[in-house]
Amino acid sequence: MDKIQMKTPLVEMDGDEMTRVLWKMIKEELILPFVDLKTEYYDLGLPHRDETNDQVTIDAANANRKYGVSVKCATITPNAQRMEEYHLHKMWKSPNGTIRAIMDGTVFRAPIMIDPIHPVVKNWKQPIVIARHAYGDVYRNTEMVIDRPGKAELVFTDQDGHRTAQTIFDFDSAGVLQGQYNRQDSIESFARSCFNYALDAKKDLWFGAKDTISKQYDGKFKEIFQRIYDEEYKERFEAAGITYFYSLIDDIVARIIRSEGGMIWACKNYDGDVMSDMVSTAFGSLAMMTSVLVTPDGNYEYEAAHGTVTRHYYRYLKGEQTSTNPMATIFAWTGALRKRGEKDGLNDLVTFADKLEQACLDTLNEGTMTKDLCHLAEGIEPKEVNTAEFIQAIRSHLEASL
Ligand code: NAD
Repeated sequence: MDKIQMKTPLVEMDGDEMTRVLWKMIKEELILPFVDLKTEYYDLGLPHRDETNDQVTIDAANANRKYGVSVKCATITPNAQRMEEYHLHKMWKSPNGTIRAIMDGTVFRAPIMIDPIHPVVKNWKQPIVIARHAYGDVYRNTEMVIDRPGKAELVFTDQDGHRTAQTIFDFDSAGVLQGQYNRQDSIESFARSCFNYALDAKKDLWFGAKDTISKQYDGKFKEIFQRIYDEEYKERFEAAGITYFYSLIDDIVARIIRSEGGMIWACKNYDGDVMSDMVSTAFGSLAMMTSVLVTPDGNYEYEAAHGTVTRHYYRYLKGEQTSTNPMATIFAWTGALRKRGEKDGLNDLVTFADKLEQACLDTLNEGTMTKDLCHLAEGIEPKEVNTAEFIQAIRSHLEASL
């Protein structure tokens, strides 16, 4: 069989620990035998980040801006214990943080659904995609504990020194105080990323905030989304047969729970933090969550939502078999290959990505599963396999379909 050809390289960012092991297995067993894979390779494994003073992370992010599509393996964000373990020069920042700061954009997380695992919310039939604005608000706050009576003020001083002040509260006893902000350009990027993703996925976009209470702050989010929708996206949404829907966050939560799923749910930073954990737990497992960073200028970075699965890696180093779930990492590859195929007009590559995903779903639906999924499966007798066996089972399904 001739291998499927590519035009433009994918930006490939390798990573750490068990996911680095999965990365190699996925490439060797599920991609290289079928695709004449073109990648520009960046080793974001912690030892190489340390050797290059983290320059490799910056280079990889810039390559993504150049080529437009990348696939990233999970990476360690060092802490004090990792400093010792890897004899690091410095406590390097989170690679995802560095990449997001360079690329800008919004993170979209979607569960992979399979027949034997039923969402806790029984009417959810389709995945719910959470789009989280990952900038500002309470994550960049300034806060104070007040230990005596006094007046709290909100003060803005412009470049010419003009002051505008408002009283927040006249404290007659102790209390707490907090200031937060966001930037108009960041909110605009967030809105455009959500609208682009919805068009791409052909799914409705829902956005909820609390503009009845926070008339100016949340009101600004609502206004920006509506303006950008009306000016730039309305016609394309109508042509695609999808809708944009704004409501109060509490109303959105109620509607989400009663829905069949299938929408993209845009969340402000804190709402997204909380709601993505609720949604992913209700759908089943972290190992089944895909994640993609979409930038306002149309670049895509695909990854798994989980980390490097350290516990399994230590077992692997001792020569033990592990039953690590490669699904989210495989779907990072298929997402990137499909997007590359779409951008370059390569139908074979798009079809290959579809078939590889289907082979994964067929393997799970017949009950062949890694350990993390076996205890969630209902209505079948799951067969627990190790990682290598699971990948081989997927390969058999894939070969049968090609
Ligand atoms: P983790 O996602 O690796 O593991 C969390 C829990 O989920 C563990 O119990 C693990 O066994 C289970 N789990 C996760 N993925 C699984 C899979 N594919 N198959 C089976 N079980 C799975 O997160 P953690 O333990 O908090 O962090 C480990 C390392 O990963 C840390 O060094 C952290 O910095 C890094 N991390 C990286 C990313 C990223 O690169 N996107 C995200 C989170 C954590």
